[in-house]
Amino acid sequence: MPVVRVALDVPLSTLFDYLLSVDLPAEIGQRVLVPFGRKHVVGIVIELAESSELAVERIKPVEQVLDDVPPLPAELLTLLRFCSDYYHHPLGMTVMAALPARLRAQEPVTIKQELSYALTDAGRALDLVQLPKRRVIQHRIWQALQNGAMSGSQIRALSASAPANLKLMMEQGWAESSTIPAAPSAPHTFNEVHTPTAAQQQAIDAVAQAQGYRCFLLHGITGSGKTEVYVQLMHQVLQRGEQVLLLVPEINLTPQLENYFRNRFPDAELASLHSGLSDGERVTKWLRAQSDQARIVLGTRLAVFTPLPKLGLILVDEEHDSSFKQQDGLRYSARDVAIFRANQRGVPIVLGSATPSLESYYNARSGRYQLLKLEQRASAQAQLPQVRCLNTSNIPLQEGISPAMLTALGERLLRKEQSLIFINRRGYAPVLMCTACGWLSNCSNCAGKLVLHLKDRRLRCHHCGHQERVPHACPGCGNTDLQPVGIGTQRVEEALQAHFPEARILRVDRDSTRNKGSWLAMRKQIQDDDVDILVGTQILAKGHDFPNLTLVGVLNPDGALYSADFRASEKLFAQLAQVAGRAGRADKPGEVLVQTAFPDHPLFRALRAHDYDAWAQILLTEREQAGFPPFVFQVLLRAEGKQEGEVYAFLKRAREAAMALSMPVEIYGVVAATMAKRANHIRAQLLVQSDTRKALQQFLRAWHPLLDELPSQKLRWSLDIDPLEF
Ligand code: ADP
Ligand code: ZN
Ligand code: ZN
Repeated sequence: MPVVRVALDVPLSTLFDYLLSVDLPAEIGQRVLVPFGRKHVVGIVIELAESSELAVERIKPVEQVLDDVPPLPAELLTLLRFCSDYYHHPLGMTVMAALPARLRAQEPVTIKQELSYALTDAGRALDLVQLPKRRVIQHRIWQALQNGAMSGSQIRALSASAPANLKLMMEQGWAESSTIPAAPSAPHTFNEVHTPTAAQQQAIDAVAQAQGYRCFLLHGITGSGKTEVYVQLMHQVLQRGEQVLLLVPEINLTPQLENYFRNRFPDAELASLHSGLSDGERVTKWLRAQSDQARIVLGTRLAVFTPLPKLGLILVDEEHDSSFKQQDGLRYSARDVAIFRANQRGVPIVLGSATPSLESYYNARSGRYQLLKLEQRASAQAQLPQVRCLNTSNIPLQEGISPAMLTALGERLLRKEQSLIFINRRGYAPVLMCTACGWLSNCSNCAGKLVLHLKDRRLRCHHCGHQERVPHACPGCGNTDLQPVGIGTQRVEEALQAHFPEARILRVDRDSTRNKGSWLAMRKQIQDDDVDILVGTQILAKGHDFPNLTLVGVLNPDGALYSADFRASEKLFAQLAQVAGRAGRADKPGEVLVQTAFPDHPLFRALRAHDYDAWAQILLTEREQAGFPPFVFQVLLRAEGKQEGEVYAFLKRAREAAMALSMPVEIYGVVAATMAKRANHIRAQLLVQSDTRKALQQFLRAWHPLLDELPSQKLRWSLDIDPLEF
């Protein structure tokens, strides 16, 4: 009897054999329901075989072949196999991690049928008396529908109020809905907005001329019009009837980007995939992409696994962003998987950034990737902001803010321009201290401090979520004079409000944007000029366009300059260049003031000169000398558990096993993690690196099975390939 090999969501690196009865045909990629232990679970058929190595009586039969959705395409399964091999994560768990939740569940998948809308006979016969031109939106809908039926999403693309207006028209008997799908109108419509600049055109042509796979690094300063390059490339791909995958780092960027692309490509179906979707929405969009109805897939990292039968181009925006890396489970880099996918598929991929990751920059410099540069802002009036440092080593600060910063803010208030104060710390102050005995608000579960949140009078751990009331007196000595040390967004907001009582100040951080929709409302406030001073964390740094913003102030960035994390200064430069890029986007020149005690540090020199290349060269030299990525390839074995002894014993054994293999890799010592304790778990790690990816992978293939053999009942351990955090 035929046998199927099935991927299941269990932490074992094998597939599982099941018998397939003849009246239950199954294909590769299909979902099946199988018994596993005492449970019934959903799996994916990965292989078909004539027989099994197991004795027939030990193989259980497949209970059900679920054919409610088409099987996963072979190409996707190949991609997942690659991820499983490369990231040393069990194949079954890799496959399941990539799938929408509904495809992992036993219940049949039901898809809400997308309705389409068309004019009735009465609607077609309308004249300008019945539908006067001043009813702008209805007029627009009416004209659009004269070219044929439209889907709900095509209607929405016409205007935010189009659905409500369409409803009115249906009540009038002018339009009707049906379940017959609207045919995508061909050739597709493309809204030209800009004529590409010469530099943009060069980049567009280079990618357009690529035959098959090629990886491009689009290095363009902030405001240089990278988005326009993406749009023009997408246009070409859509014209050929192919699909585009555009990966973006953050969810909070997606609604605005989504609208932007919908407006540029009004009749191309766009599926946006991000973590804010319901399970039903996610699976619907996934299937729309798999059936080639969605032509543009816009999404965060998980979207890299969307099935795209006609994929013609992959774009990765802000490719340096660390949110492309998944930090638990399947620890993949969506950017790197995207590159593999483009290669597998034989299509070009464009990585875009104003501050490329050092890995990508190095690959571009060494010729593995093709470098495309946009060195000027796209809009002729928009100039790069002037960047200056305010030396804080010899001036008094008031609540972390220097007099010169206050003066600059005051000038903007007079001129009715917006300012942004950037500080990468939420809360009021990073720690509370007793002035008598030196007690600090440590977290009892972690090796970190409790952050003071004065708004709701709480001390909060940002690592484990533990929180408590702010004590009235020191728990150590009873002294009642407890002082906040350091500054966070709330403290800056309060200090600025005290200094500028008339100013309208808006704080934007994870606390103030927690509720769904609050960030959208804030964006509108900013764009409507209802805000004078923005105080915020890196949420504000990313790709927003605030035309009236002319001053960016940066408080307290120095911690990252001398951090133990070798990537901290790379990240800081990227962040500051991004946030500086918010200033002076339109016709008003921008200014950036950075408060630092080290104004001569090469990072600030490069920032003032807008010279990413100089900075990257310094970092590359340092990394080469120190033997760090991108010159080596790393794997980090992490372990954590309640008992310190067990954690370290496990890692020590793992290290001995690695040494015994005597392979060409460099094995470091067992050390505590940067966060040595979190949520009452002791955390430690072991780093192994090699000059080549290949040697590291060979080592991992030998080492991983040995790790599986080690006693580790009370521990959690994981391998992180190409780790970003230590
Ligand atoms: P980036 O993503 O590189 O920071 P954007 O794509 O946001 O830059 O473009 C910055 C600004 O320049 C936008 O307001 C955009 O409308 C404008 N722009 C882009 N391309 C052109 C062009 N060819 N001509 C005029 N303006 C342009
Ligand atoms: Zn005390
Ligand atoms: Zn904690």
